Amino acid sequence: MSVHNDRIPRAFLRRSEMLKNVHAWMILLLVGAALVCGPVVAAQQQPDFSKVQIKVTKVSGNIYMLEGQGGNIAASVGEDGIVIVDDQFAPLAEKIQAALKELKITDKPVRFVINTHYHGDHTGGNVPFSNAGSTLIAQDNVRKRLESGGTAGNGGSIKMENKPAEKAALPIITFEHDVTVHLNGEDIRALHFPSGHTDGDSIIFFPKNNVVHMGDDFVRIPGHGALSNLDDVRAFTKMLKETSAAVQKALNDHKTLDQMKQEKILTPWAKWKGDFVNEDAFIETLYNSLTGHKGEFVKHN
Ligand SMILES: [Zn+2]
Repeated sequence: MSVHNDRIPRAFLRRSEMLKNVHAWMILLLVGAALVCGPVVAAQQQPDFSKVQIKVTKVSGNIYMLEGQGGNIAASVGEDGIVIVDDQFAPLAEKIQAALKELKITDKPVRFVINTHYHGDHTGGNVPFSNAGSTLIAQDNVRKRLESGGTAGNGGSIKMENKPAEKAALPIITFEHDVTVHLNGEDIRALHFPSGHTDGDSIIFFPKNNVVHMGDDFVRIPGHGALSNLDDVRAFTKMLKETSAAVQKALNDHKTLDQMKQEKILTPWAKWKGDFVNEDAFIETLYNSLTGHKGEFVKHN
């Protein structure tokens, strides 16, 4: 789910401010959050990968979206080869490769994989892709989290444990703030937005094609998985602002966390809830954020 970090709402608002200046961006929504956002969760509800089909959708120009299991993949496919953003799970790597080949645009390989963040449903394919010769790129903290493993959550009921990843899964090019991959006639730019869904989130821009991949900083529920537009991001932002304000109001009224849950203060926004982050968990996330309570599981570094 999109909420593993106590500072999400405010961080996201800054991002959306930036996005207001951009017209007609297509947003690649990240899927799977409700079921598979961390290796522990994934392990408990391990899907049958042999049954997963990769669906390819043309987004714009030479940019495609691949849906399978886990976070959606963005692919720039062209004469210079292929760049993908995120790589789902290892057992799907061959199917992903086959789906890209099936486009019959290029015989060249996946030259670069950019990870939006370290979660297993976005980096699970790192080993097979790097073994096949792809270069892995991510923000500094993505490599750190993959290398060290650790626990994360919302400071309360949501806790996830990640085991240290093997060497082949680690990005070999990392950056602090941003990096640009110049391929297929496009300046594909990964930009770090700290304090988001994790501490290593990047948003990937395909400026020529007006496409942006937001990783798990933006997850639309219900209906995650679909391509979205700026209005969808605005609606999501509005929900974050309103739910934050509702919890802040309850805090101002000296309500306890339990009271807020009992009174179901986020019921007006119930349509946004998911299986993984339910109403109570989201109240808790906002409560911890607004009270500065980080909890033992939130701080990564
Ligand atoms: Zn995630």
